[in-house]
Amino acid sequence: VIEQGQPEHSVITTCAYCGVGCSFEAQMKGDKVVRMVPYKGGDANHGHSCVKGRFAFGYATHPDRITTPMIRDSIDQPWREVSWEEAIGFAAERLKATQAQYGRESIGGITSSRCTNEETYLVQKLVRATFGNNNTDTCARVCHSPTGYGLKTTLGESAGTQTFDSVMKADAIIVIGANPTDAHPVFGSLMRRRLREGARLIVADPRRIDLLNTPHLKDGQHLPLRPGTNVALVNALAHVVVDEGLGDHDFIAARCDTPAYQAWRQFIADTRHSPEATADITGVPAVDVRHAARTYANAGNGAIYYGLGVTEHSQGSTMVMGIANLAMATGNLGREGVGVNPLRGQNNVQGSCDMGSFPHELPGYQHVADTTARERFEAEWGTPIDDEPGLRIPNMFDAAIDGSFKALYVQGEDIAQSDPNTQHVERALSSLDCLIVQDIFLNETAKYAHVLLPGSSFLEKDGTFTNAERRINRVRKVMEPLGGKADWEVTLELSHAMGYPMDYAHPSEIMDEIARLTPSFAGVSYAKLDEQGSLQWPCNAEYPLGMPTMHEVDFPIGRGRFTITEYMATEERASRRFPLLLTTGRILSQYNVGAQTRRTNNQVWHDEDILDLHPSDAEVRGIKDGDWLGITSRAGHTVLRARLSERMQPGVVYTTFHHPDSGANVITTDSSDWATNCPEYKVTAVQVEKVSRP
Ligand code: SF4
Repeated sequence: VIEQGQPEHSVITTCAYCGVGCSFEAQMKGDKVVRMVPYKGGDANHGHSCVKGRFAFGYATHPDRITTPMIRDSIDQPWREVSWEEAIGFAAERLKATQAQYGRESIGGITSSRCTNEETYLVQKLVRATFGNNNTDTCARVCHSPTGYGLKTTLGESAGTQTFDSVMKADAIIVIGANPTDAHPVFGSLMRRRLREGARLIVADPRRIDLLNTPHLKDGQHLPLRPGTNVALVNALAHVVVDEGLGDHDFIAARCDTPAYQAWRQFIADTRHSPEATADITGVPAVDVRHAARTYANAGNGAIYYGLGVTEHSQGSTMVMGIANLAMATGNLGREGVGVNPLRGQNNVQGSCDMGSFPHELPGYQHVADTTARERFEAEWGTPIDDEPGLRIPNMFDAAIDGSFKALYVQGEDIAQSDPNTQHVERALSSLDCLIVQDIFLNETAKYAHVLLPGSSFLEKDGTFTNAERRINRVRKVMEPLGGKADWEVTLELSHAMGYPMDYAHPSEIMDEIARLTPSFAGVSYAKLDEQGSLQWPCNAEYPLGMPTMHEVDFPIGRGRFTITEYMATEERASRRFPLLLTTGRILSQYNVGAQTRRTNNQVWHDEDILDLHPSDAEVRGIKDGDWLGITSRAGHTVLRARLSERMQPGVVYTTFHHPDSGANVITTDSSDWATNCPEYKVTAVQVEKVSRP
């Protein structure tokens, strides 16, 4: 419910939905938000917004909010409301008892891309310093972990290279596996503006996305590839660059590692990567691939933007490296208008990765095996840190089922609903001796929990979020936490109860510690953020006001590293039993599993998930618009209504994942990226049949 009335005062803060990170003026009457007005001084949005940030904030005061801690001895018992002190004491004793019985490695924690940098930093510190292991992971595991791996390997830094505004200097724009007008609407509008001005567009996506309908588009090309064949397509594009001599040899000679380039050149020049040889794999005609490669390479400034349609594949990391190869080969790095730009899904995916959530990396992507880095943290924290990487989320699930992993602290993440192969996740969660869930709602994961700690929304705390362009924005408290404590305060108290006190009076002090320990954040402080409005990391002595465009002079690894990207077919293939390929995505008004947007008036725009399929696939199955369909994969079964759509290609079906009752993740499998275990949400072989109304 949106409170109405005349505002009395306002606070500048940051939207908590997508990775664009729009700034808003929260206009207040007393302690109630009257309206959210897009802030003209916002460096990421310049006064623009979408229907989520502008209207969908009422979830913060929804009656479903959990405001009292709860505990229970086992998951078949009812919840018992208790004081904060009792809940935190109960959680701490259970965690300590678990470690005493099963060992130091038997517990872990999961951070959230919904929470602030400071909160994320504290959770990984809790795991490393208080639990004494590296069993920390983040929900970025299931979205952009391949970006971290792929960009670090090739370019030396796990982040996008450009500002959003840089797109206004692009002459050709490639969008791969992303739908910016729905999922990153403010940036999608900016991109549209550039397209109307004459930039060329190439979309590689199984579905025809709305960007291709931009009015006055000069040259819009759609490469409707088959799900799971991204790497074959990017290799074919790179093959054309090499085969037709379209590369930027000056850039390669000056900026890239020569032996790595020569090995890659020999690999990619092989005719098995040609558009003609790969057309049967990708389904994209060779002539179209050649045209797209020429457009990008000859454009002047070529920019690549990609989303989860790149990362959420069994070859997600390979594809990210393939994109970086293509940008290096054409010299499209290190200036405005070019670059490799992951469009981050959640508000703070970039930040949660930066803050050391991964089990192998301390804040700032410093490996736990790096003795110098580890010793710096040990000196600051006053405790030893394990030099072995800990468990990733899927490893935690497997270890829970095996009986060696027994307790988990989850902050701001509904793993039971958002991770793939729900049945497997539920089995793992129900095997735990202690599950502590900290969230604003009684989510699906809480069904398996022993402790429920009330979370706080973005309106109830101070902190920072880092958006998809590495921009650190301030989050400012506009009202007191409904449960009485902000998330960062709860983590402090849990750590204290376990015998490792952490002492911060305000999140600004946590940021000061981050700056002391993280070279890329060395120049960040709340005072400077307040003065500058925002800062793009790296921000340090060399770049005191941050770095808008990365890799202008050199790469953090010295020279760019071309990497061999062999295409491997996914296990999820169309077969007689499962003849269609399912892929998934979002729509404008809703957000992820809908926990927030479904509790706002945005719900009226989308009250169910629907299965889109091509009319030819519908016809052979006798399916009409609105029919109920049973969708079965090797992992599970769900029921959705049908919508016939020419945006689909024959053989491919599509749905959103905003409603828990439709359970898209009941049918997604546990196939995952070879390097990072990011789930292959974007390709699931399914059978679709008409069923009677459920
Ligand atoms: Fe919020 Fe993203 Fe919309 Fe901006 S574009 S208002 S950050 S959801």
